[in-house]
Amino acid sequence: MKPAHLDLLLSPINKLKGVGPKIENIINKLGISLNIHFLWHFPYKIIEKKYYDNIHDAPINTLVTLKVEVLKHNPSRFRRQPYKVSCVANETPIDIVYFNARHPVIRSILPVKSFRMISGKLEFFRNKFQITHPSTVEDVTKIQLLREREPIYSLTAGLNLKYFTKMAFDELYAHQLAIGIIRLIDSKKKSVAFKNNNNLKNNLIKNLPFQLTKSQTQVLEEIKTDLESNTQMIRLLQGDVGSGKTIVALASMLTVIESGFQCAFMAPTSILAYQHYENISILLENLSIKITLLTGKDKGKIRKEKLEKIHDGEVELIVGTHALIQEGVTFKNLGLSVIDEQHRFGVYQRLAFNYKGFRPSILVMSATPIPRTLTLAAYGDMDESRLIDKPIGRKPIMTSGLSLKKEKQLIDRISNKIQKTSEKFFWVCPLIEESQELDLKAATERFNNLNKIFKNKVLLIHGQLNEKEKENIMEKFKNEDFRILVATTVIEVGIDIKSATTIIIEHAERFGLAQLHQLRGRVGRNNQESFCILLHKENLGDTAKKRIQIMTETNDGFKIAEEDLIIRGPGEILGKKQSGLPSFNVADLSFDSDLLEEAKIEADNVISDDPKLLKDKNQNLKNLLYIHERDTAIKTLGAG
Ligand code: ADP
Ligand code: MG
Repeated sequence: MKPAHLDLLLSPINKLKGVGPKIENIINKLGISLNIHFLWHFPYKIIEKKYYDNIHDAPINTLVTLKVEVLKHNPSRFRRQPYKVSCVANETPIDIVYFNARHPVIRSILPVKSFRMISGKLEFFRNKFQITHPSTVEDVTKIQLLREREPIYSLTAGLNLKYFTKMAFDELYAHQLAIGIIRLIDSKKKSVAFKNNNNLKNNLIKNLPFQLTKSQTQVLEEIKTDLESNTQMIRLLQGDVGSGKTIVALASMLTVIESGFQCAFMAPTSILAYQHYENISILLENLSIKITLLTGKDKGKIRKEKLEKIHDGEVELIVGTHALIQEGVTFKNLGLSVIDEQHRFGVYQRLAFNYKGFRPSILVMSATPIPRTLTLAAYGDMDESRLIDKPIGRKPIMTSGLSLKKEKQLIDRISNKIQKTSEKFFWVCPLIEESQELDLKAATERFNNLNKIFKNKVLLIHGQLNEKEKENIMEKFKNEDFRILVATTVIEVGIDIKSATTIIIEHAERFGLAQLHQLRGRVGRNNQESFCILLHKENLGDTAKKRIQIMTETNDGFKIAEEDLIIRGPGEILGKKQSGLPSFNVADLSFDSDLLEEAKIEADNVISDDPKLLKDKNQNLKNLLYIHERDTAIKTLGAG
């Protein structure tokens, strides 16, 4: 890998051959303005189109590549008739068929007597082989360039696939590899060995009102080993909702704090940050650790004071939102960054975070299983820990589907419970795609309706409130005699209110499986029986029916993620919405894994052959990060 690659990666796409202002504009819509951004534009699908020397070996109705000789053109004479090009593949006749095609184009790409490599779906029709609308037609001299696997990228209006896979883009594909290498080289750095008696950590654990689960203990050991070594920890902690990731993070942070370093705990929303701050403050009450909360809400003098304390090391544990990684925030000595519910964060943030202070160790936590490929791409070689068991005594959340027609029944049940118990209810109204106003309208209507029935017992929370208002509402719901919280999906991630035992999800058919599971995880946080009611419209489509059925059958997040993959296809799992990155589309995992594993091997070679190159690269890497960081502000706006 030459350093020249790096400069290329940092230059704007319009410097590329074949990218004029028009195409540039279109590509910009995919969130791509610099070459490096192509890195995030992974193919969402890989098409296999294996080459067969002998057509009789090629399977029918699959994508294949064949070498053919063009014999004769049979143009269509009227509109509906196909244009057929008679060819032979090793003396076996085969027709290449086009509908509504422009004749001169076909003549130019398939001249008579020429040999061509053709890829497309091989069919056997009326006793003859044929390929209709081949996806690629190449001059046979280019056989060495033939790719049996074709990456398919997400496109935007005006940009066709051909454009994306040919041209300039072949070159960029190689750059993805180059960047993969850069990140892998960079992935783990020397760090501080946080070695101590772990008095703080042991103290915390001793005073918990519960016993750690087996996997919590095990993961804490794994993290301890990492922290005690002198290499940076980069670890992903996966654990289903409610598996108790927070306490693992907190205990780990104490190890670092005891060594005299600061820790940052970053949450995706300010409600969550606030909640973590509150809970952590209570847990650390007797340990005299200086802790602060930093969110976008902190302005002016207050912000300035907090930043000074962070800079001077006067605070040791800083909980916050992405405000933690914004300009002006400098740590005295950040030792460990914990990133909670990472699927809400782009990679950019992580990198920026990594760049500040010295090399902090990183613990990324997620309830959504993240494919290995993606962690490799995003973080380099990352270690993984899993919480596989749930705290003892947790009962599965009883989940049932209920038609909206039976709403009255449900209201009666709630009414009964409200009178007889002190239990609380979440009532989630669906996200209405593209329209926060409609969203709010639906939730407000529901609130009004419930508030008539349960006077002074109902609260409403939604995305258009400011952070302070949201926090107030959460506080009220938690501490006062309010019993139903009507919410838009703002409560999706991480909210922890133990007295809430039932969650009602209205128009459950509009939610994806992963989202339903996340929402359901808001209840069942103590040892009481808890319930999830999926309120749905009367006539369900097949997919919605299947989703609701899966939800009623299992509480296992990993199983649900698997089913989700089957229903939705891999392309969407870490698609735009969940990753918080506008164009982060990773999908065909098997393919990408190969690529990245290759990159890793190459990276290792580079390091062992030429350590000096590493130094040359560092300056470039800083430039890279600078660019990432600048982008962060824009990108995070959409993520929280
Ligand atoms: P998540 O993994 O979804 O982030 P949390 O860390 O929020 O889960 O934990 C969920 C709840 O379970 C919290 O109220 C936490 O205090 C509690 N908890 C964590 N570990 C245990 C345990 N071993 N036994 C009982 N309760 C626990
Ligand atoms: Mg959590």
